[in-house]
Amino acid sequence: MESATKSLAEQPVTVLKGVGARIAEKLARLGITSLQDLLFHLPLRYQDRTRIQPIGGLRRGDQVVIEGEIDLAEIKFGRRRSLMVHLSDGTGGLFLRFFHFSNAQREGLNRGVRLRCFGEVRSGPNSLEMVHPEYQRIDPDQPMAVEHSLTPIYPTTEGVHQLTLRGLMQQTLEWLQREPEGLPEWLPASLLGRFPQAGLAETVAYLHAPPPDADQRQLLSGTHPAQQRLSFEELLAHQISLLSMRARHQRIAAPSFAADNRLKQALLAALPFELTPAQHRVVEEIEQDLQLATPMQRLVQGDVGSGKTVVSALAALQAIGGGSQVALMAPTELLAEQHLRNFSQWLLPLGIEIGWLTGRLKGRPREAVIEGVASGRIHLVVGTHALFQQDVVFSDLGLVIIDEQHRFGVHQRLALREKGNREGHTPHQLIMTATPIPRTLAMTAYADLDLSVIDTLPPGRRPVATAVISEQRRDEVVERVRAACTQGRQAYWVCTLIEESEALQCQAAEDTEKLLAEALPELRVALVHGRVKQEEKERVMQAFKDGAVDLLVATTVIEVGVDVPNASLMIIENPERLGLAQLHQLRGRVGRGSTESHCVLMYHPPLSANAKQRLAILRETGDGFVIAQMDLEMRGPGEVLGTRQTGEMQLRIADLVRDQGMLEEVRGAAEMLLQSDPRAAAHLVKRWLGERVDYAKA
Ligand code: ADP
Ligand code: MG
Repeated sequence: MESATKSLAEQPVTVLKGVGARIAEKLARLGITSLQDLLFHLPLRYQDRTRIQPIGGLRRGDQVVIEGEIDLAEIKFGRRRSLMVHLSDGTGGLFLRFFHFSNAQREGLNRGVRLRCFGEVRSGPNSLEMVHPEYQRIDPDQPMAVEHSLTPIYPTTEGVHQLTLRGLMQQTLEWLQREPEGLPEWLPASLLGRFPQAGLAETVAYLHAPPPDADQRQLLSGTHPAQQRLSFEELLAHQISLLSMRARHQRIAAPSFAADNRLKQALLAALPFELTPAQHRVVEEIEQDLQLATPMQRLVQGDVGSGKTVVSALAALQAIGGGSQVALMAPTELLAEQHLRNFSQWLLPLGIEIGWLTGRLKGRPREAVIEGVASGRIHLVVGTHALFQQDVVFSDLGLVIIDEQHRFGVHQRLALREKGNREGHTPHQLIMTATPIPRTLAMTAYADLDLSVIDTLPPGRRPVATAVISEQRRDEVVERVRAACTQGRQAYWVCTLIEESEALQCQAAEDTEKLLAEALPELRVALVHGRVKQEEKERVMQAFKDGAVDLLVATTVIEVGVDVPNASLMIIENPERLGLAQLHQLRGRVGRGSTESHCVLMYHPPLSANAKQRLAILRETGDGFVIAQMDLEMRGPGEVLGTRQTGEMQLRIADLVRDQGMLEEVRGAAEMLLQSDPRAAAHLVKRWLGERVDYAKA
């Protein structure tokens, strides 16, 4: 027969028996639309129903099949009425305990009846027991078979039961057995050799129905060679997609800007400080990129306070000196305003026109900026994501600078690049982040970017002494604030809340501000949060900067970028609710001047062991990279990179933390495969990224 086999990726789940529109829709919620998706929907864990365990050898926590004879069944009237059934098998006995039971059920559980049960062994008041086990009566004349493979437990969704899913998987595996070509192998033999369980179809079948002797501990942790085989392939697909995005990018034309220009020299001469060697190095890397006629894609990582802003200003000058425009995008208005102030101070004296554009700018002033950007009168425009609203059209955008990029997704980054994409020219992109991303993670999440690291802080910075203190000692903390501020220093008091609701956060900050103002009448206390009006916020921040406010009560809106060197004390309420990286960022608001700075992490007791450990890390180190690595290990990449970013990475099987050891090899394999078999590479991307491929295409 000639009919070409359709790939399982092209077979919708509706080809299976029992799957109609309703179930298909529910499966779609699990990201499952094709038979291939179904096969990649791996069990979370397994049960061993392949053998009957002797009761005498059971231990608490075992999930097992047992078989025995009932020697006692009675209803106990304790605190809760329960049916207790004692089961023995010659090696030992245990109780089956039922809190809910029907009369019929009770009547079937008489002395002498043989049962086969599956359940978890727990310790009861007098002996081991199983609570509400699954059970079946056994006819001694007709012994019943056990399962031949471990029983998979799948992640489910409402309306699709475990058993349904198991049934569908069964059908799909049979399908795969009939048509193994439906799941073709795209990994070359050279890579497959690395895995004992090589073939894809074989691997998948193994994971849905592992043999009784499979290493369950490995399976549970995702480190079984069969799982690693799939993780490898998935990471490879992502890596290929990012590398091809990068390669496509390098075929695009960008304006080239000469490095040496008088503007740069003028700014350097006017700065009150010398650049650090690390800043010099990164400036040079950027300078070289901007001279090329292909668009720069560079990520600058530098801990809070490492001096990224001035580095980006120098990049801006190179583009402006070359006759182009620059857009600088920040994730919050507050931060955008601070950039506006810095850039104005540095660049206005050089005769550069600066524009300002955020979502709140309306009417005439907005029109004026739009006009200035379109005509080319404005050289540098600073703002928030409002910069890429539709009617913002640049006359000649040559460089886009994005600050604190982990707040922006890949898509926003690409959209902004599209903005400047005119007549085949694409602007250069410079991305700055204070979230130090562990190298392995950066290699995967940002494989399309070049990386520069500002790895030293400007001289004279002192580490922030950090204390972890219970909220019960609030009064002492308030006294510390009083002491610091009466000595002419300034302080932050940061309120956090677990609730997502911004309104509640703002309320908490308002309440705290009132209480603190009462407790500290001699201090000038002010408040900023997300709902304070723009002009008011600006006024308060300026006042704090000018030293006219002693204590600034705020929500985490001050997280990024705000720079007030005289502030030397920060109190963070409920730090246990925030991620380490975020706390590190917050703390970075102090320690910017030359005096010793302090940070008080004022937690709400009791503190979990994990939270205690996390806060201790913060107390013990000020190294952003160490903190990021810990955060990654304790909370996973989603939290470290920002959910939007990893949302787009959506790994089904691989795990960036668990599998970081294979990332180097994955990188090498991706490069090799793109060279040697681009067709296979493309198929892999299609298999694992599917529709999401467009993000790789943009
Ligand atoms: P971040 O990397 O967190 O964005 P900033 O660019 O805001 O850091 O810099 C923090 C502070 O350090 C600013 O006040 C800035 O002017 C100052 N600064 C930057 N570079 C140097 C340097 N080489 N020497 C001294 N101070 C510097
Ligand atoms: Mg900054």
